[in-house]
Amino acid sequence: MLQSRWAAKVRARILETLFPSHCVGCAERGSWLCAACLSGLRQCGSGFCPGCLRPSTDGRPCLTCVAACPLTQLFAACPYRQNPLARAVESLKYTGVQALADPLAELLIAHLEHFRYAGAWSKAFDAVIPVPLHRRRLLARGYQQAALLAVPVAQHFSWPLREDVLFRVRATRPQVGLPQRTRLKNVRGAFSVSGMAPRRVLLVDDVVTTASTMRACAQALRDAGSHEVVALALAHG
Ligand SMILES: [Zn+2]
Ligand SMILES: [Zn+2]
Repeated sequence: MLQSRWAAKVRARILETLFPSHCVGCAERGSWLCAACLSGLRQCGSGFCPGCLRPSTDGRPCLTCVAACPLTQLFAACPYRQNPLARAVESLKYTGVQALADPLAELLIAHLEHFRYAGAWSKAFDAVIPVPLHRRRLLARGYQQAALLAVPVAQHFSWPLREDVLFRVRATRPQVGLPQRTRLKNVRGAFSVSGMAPRRVLLVDDVVTTASTMRACAQALRDAGSHEVVALALAHG
């Protein structure tokens, strides 16, 4: 992972020389997402039930989902279908523009701070864990977009970033375009935990649609001893 981060940094530097940064929203030079475009993004005003994804004031499961949901809470910072967010997430995911991760992570941090202020959560997390890619996909891509977002969050709150706990042991088809039922089947049993799972986990991903992946991760963590798994995504939709 260290080596791939280093390789990713070198690649980012080469890219910056060849293609100087310009905002994915307004094309202004100097950054990949300028402050004006970042602050103009619509944000989610509530959390979501981690089972059925209906809005939930404090991100906890609704009465229908509570018994069977391995996730304790679910938060997503912004609705996905708005520009330039969708474009920024695509760029982060597919073109390796990693300088985008820092401004996008600011949205995650602000969102968590907002809900801490509102009393939706209070205790510190024992681990910040990005939703892992399968090793093969990580090797092909050279970086993991969820980890790029998780690093600044962990640093901001001084919680340990743990990439040695949760692993994707089975390569899965991308969830995009799959119907909900197939998504669940696609990721079931795809994750495993190495050693003792931390007690309170903050699970970070870029986009949450049905939360099947987040729930599969949470199930693996709970089976390995986690007491609480809170999911935080950049975008919902
Ligand atoms: Zn802009
Ligand atoms: Zn629900």
